[in-house]
Amino acid sequence: MRFLKTEAIVLKSNLISEKDKIATLFTRDYGKLQAVAKGARRSKSRFVNAVRPFIVANYVIFEGQNYYYIDQWELVKNFENIEKDLKKFALASYISETISRVLEEKQKNTKLYFFTKHSLEAVESLNVETSIFLFSYTLKLISLLGYMPVLDSCAICGKKENLSYFSSSCGGAVCKDCNETCKDAKFLNKKVLKFLLYLLKAKYEKLERISVPGVIKEEADKIITEYVRTHLEMDFKSKDFAMKLSD
Ligand SMILES: [Zn+2]
Repeated sequence: MRFLKTEAIVLKSNLISEKDKIATLFTRDYGKLQAVAKGARRSKSRFVNAVRPFIVANYVIFEGQNYYYIDQWELVKNFENIEKDLKKFALASYISETISRVLEEKQKNTKLYFFTKHSLEAVESLNVETSIFLFSYTLKLISLLGYMPVLDSCAICGKKENLSYFSSSCGGAVCKDCNETCKDAKFLNKKVLKFLLYLLKAKYEKLERISVPGVIKEEADKIITEYVRTHLEMDFKSKDFAMKLSD
């Protein structure tokens, strides 16, 4: 029997039988895996809190024939504000869904692990407007996955002037001389481009202080959604829920 010792984030948990739960863990050292918490549905069980969504804990996990099983656990961090604030909960759910979907089983990705943990900590402790956090997180995530959009120069020729188009397939902003090269190039307002660049580069802390007109946010939303579709071929269910709660 093989034992794995690792810190992990609970991305989600489901009921698997009358007494047990199964959790999707993003482990720091072994990537994403499904682990059963025996007896987790019983209030007196030592595993009752072991697979609460979004907690960070140190786990000892053993590999059974069909499943992994949690053998021991010790809490590292829980997120009280996320549990009691619906907007924060919606953002954490979005983080959890996106990470679950982009990760293959048992594929270690330490950079993405720490990014996920850091993003959850930011949701817990900061008060950033829901849509602004969601956009910034998504741009940072897609960049970490290798698809960082070019936003400060033309994605085709590299020039910094006349960046008045955006093309998902060409990889970002496109200048007026190059836009015909990209089939899906669309006109882009300069203020939206500036906003996207800020969302990508700024630390989460900086986002608490910004206020952006609704029309700019709507444009940014369209561009980011299309960009994610083009490069990841995914839409995320929990996005709509978070966006509905946005100011
Ligand atoms: Zn160009």
